[in-house]
Amino acid sequence: MSHVRKQAYQDVLHRKPQSINKVTKVSTLFGENVFHLEVMREYLPDEAYKSIKQAIADGSRIDRRIADMVATAMKDWALSKGATHYTHWFQPLTGATAEKHDAFFKPVGPGRAIEQFSGDLLVQQEPDASSFPHGGIRNTFEARGYTAWDPSSPAFVISNTLCVPTIFIAYTGEALDYKMPLLKALNEVDKAAVEVCKYFDKNVTKVSATLGWEQEYFLIDKALFNARPDLMMTGRVLFGQAPAKGQQLDDHYFGSIPERVTAFMRHFENEAIKLGIPVTTRHNEVAPNQFECAPIFEECNLANDHNLLLMDLMEKIARQHDFRVILHEKPFAGLNGSGKHNNWSLATDTGVNLLAPGKNPKSNLQFLTFFVNTIKAIYDHADLLRASIASASNDHRLGGHEAPPAIISVFIGSQLTKALDDLEKNIKAGKMTPQDKTELKLNIGKIPQILLDNTDRNRTSPFAFTGNKFEFRAVGSSANCAHPMTVLNTIVAQQLKEFKKNVDARIAKGNGKDEAILKELQQLITTSKPIRFEGNGYSDEWVKEATKRGLKNLKDAVSALKVWSDNKVHELFEKNNVLTKREILARQEIEFEKYILRIQIEARLIEDLTQNHIIPAAIEYQNRLIQNVKGLKDVLGGSSTEASKVQTKLIELISSHISKMHAAAGVMLDNRKKANKIEAIEERAAAYRDTVKAQFDIIAYHANKLEKLVDDDLWPFPKLREMLFTR
Ligand code: ADP
Ligand code: MG
Repeated sequence: MSHVRKQAYQDVLHRKPQSINKVTKVSTLFGENVFHLEVMREYLPDEAYKSIKQAIADGSRIDRRIADMVATAMKDWALSKGATHYTHWFQPLTGATAEKHDAFFKPVGPGRAIEQFSGDLLVQQEPDASSFPHGGIRNTFEARGYTAWDPSSPAFVISNTLCVPTIFIAYTGEALDYKMPLLKALNEVDKAAVEVCKYFDKNVTKVSATLGWEQEYFLIDKALFNARPDLMMTGRVLFGQAPAKGQQLDDHYFGSIPERVTAFMRHFENEAIKLGIPVTTRHNEVAPNQFECAPIFEECNLANDHNLLLMDLMEKIARQHDFRVILHEKPFAGLNGSGKHNNWSLATDTGVNLLAPGKNPKSNLQFLTFFVNTIKAIYDHADLLRASIASASNDHRLGGHEAPPAIISVFIGSQLTKALDDLEKNIKAGKMTPQDKTELKLNIGKIPQILLDNTDRNRTSPFAFTGNKFEFRAVGSSANCAHPMTVLNTIVAQQLKEFKKNVDARIAKGNGKDEAILKELQQLITTSKPIRFEGNGYSDEWVKEATKRGLKNLKDAVSALKVWSDNKVHELFEKNNVLTKREILARQEIEFEKYILRIQIEARLIEDLTQNHIIPAAIEYQNRLIQNVKGLKDVLGGSSTEASKVQTKLIELISSHISKMHAAAGVMLDNRKKANKIEAIEERAAAYRDTVKAQFDIIAYHANKLEKLVDDDLWPFPKLREMLFTR
């Protein structure tokens, strides 16, 4: 074993589970580090408390005087939690969260200082943001950007810092982050859904989108992680012979969690709970060393902040347990990748889940309305939804026969399929008699509240109805859910608006309300039928069938990102006040750029590792073989040819793999240089996909063959079996 690899292996063998503070009642920790409404009531004058409560509920403005009161209260509370600094916490388009810390401490004279935090500092800040991606927005206009307080997500304290969730915008008003468009989309779906709810219940004044994410991840020991430059630099291994035993036996899934891992999980869960993140579920996933963590769902914006916070928390706490968290969508070829299922629904302020079947015909008609409209929205904008989850890393996972395919379709289960088929058939084209209507309502009333077949759900569907919510499964594990959630909520908002308009038009023409709704639903059911698919989404037949149905199969990020060039997409987002064309094109450019950079980094690393690590190890082993062949000749003379047959064959094989690997790396380097010269970013990305990334598999094939041939002692990197099974 090479020195580094041997040392790493030894380190892991000697690890013990970390002891963490035992907490008997986790509930007592919940929200301990959050400046939530209860704390505000305690710290704020009544007037300010009411004002902020209102702002949280309906997004109303907070005036400067109140902001000052909130800032002072926040600071006092934060100081009581040991905070010394504050930061505006935001979500730039890099994908990670960003923060810049400033001290509360302020000198006010010789030897005199105070702790200060004002409304001005709470409401707005100007981070030096020139290095954040902006897709050209800040080149042509004002160069600066600023962060602005989002009162709908509460401030929190993490390691002595008060964090204030904020949006990040250019001086010209364009969004430079993921949060601002999400807030706008949520506002839009709220307004559109409330209007539709009025058909059923006049008391509804607010509809919130809800999000329950399920975060998958891998855990790798830090020593082994650090001995793998590829994992360290790109989040995935670029070479590696698949271990003899991978996940074939399915013995990891839901298996007992190793002690060291449990200690880590308990630790980060406790910290998450203190931050008000209601994590409740943990289990082993399918691949070795793969795990999942899920909280109870929350309002979408808050849930997304919590997901980002949790990802950050996991990474920090993993280090304390000598682990590294891998959030990449496909760290190990040949093993399952990681996703982040986004469970989504709509909830009213009257306590109704609009995607849960109800108790009577009226509530079921409401359920069907939102259910069918969502399906129609997906039908109309499937390619946009696909584009919203496109990234270089998610490309390794989608359509990989273990993750949802890149073709977007909707699964609803057999009971609801039947219910929709019946509706479609039984609604009469002409005027409906009172008897027709009664009969229909009776049928609608029969949709059971608990849908049995949804427990045995179709795991191959990218967008599945699971009893009382839809589950968008194609989101990548490292992604910021805000982006797909922005798209989903916008397209549903748009569809609900169209629905309202059409139903109102039918009513104006003399249809009764229920009849108008039913007839409109019937039309939507018929139109959107091609998007519904109940079969095996991993099968080749589905790919053919989907083509016949006219569904798009945007196989890779570059093809998917092109969707953002479409004028209709710009109109859709502008009409709904979510993103302007300029903002969309800027985002598209940033995504293309990220795609290129990620492939570029991987290519450079492959060049380095093959040339400086793998080839030297292979040659060293080959030299030993050559020595051996020579020695045999010395000892055995003429009869040595037979005795050294295997060795000679190995020498030839090694040379052959080295030369093919080296040649492919050379082609890759040439192609990379050519691609870099391409001016248009979209074409450059396509060239990276078709000519640079295309060499990866060829190179890995030869590298993996060499791994199999070369003496284990000489191999420079921890092998996959060591990374995935050593504990
Ligand atoms: P799994 O998909 O792993 O079987 P569950 O059915 O338990 O898991 O639910 C997955 C997630 O769905 C959980 O995070 C849960 O909070 C979330 N969820 C449940 N109801 C809703 C809802 N109405 N809106 C959004 N998410 C929800
Ligand atoms: Mg799920």
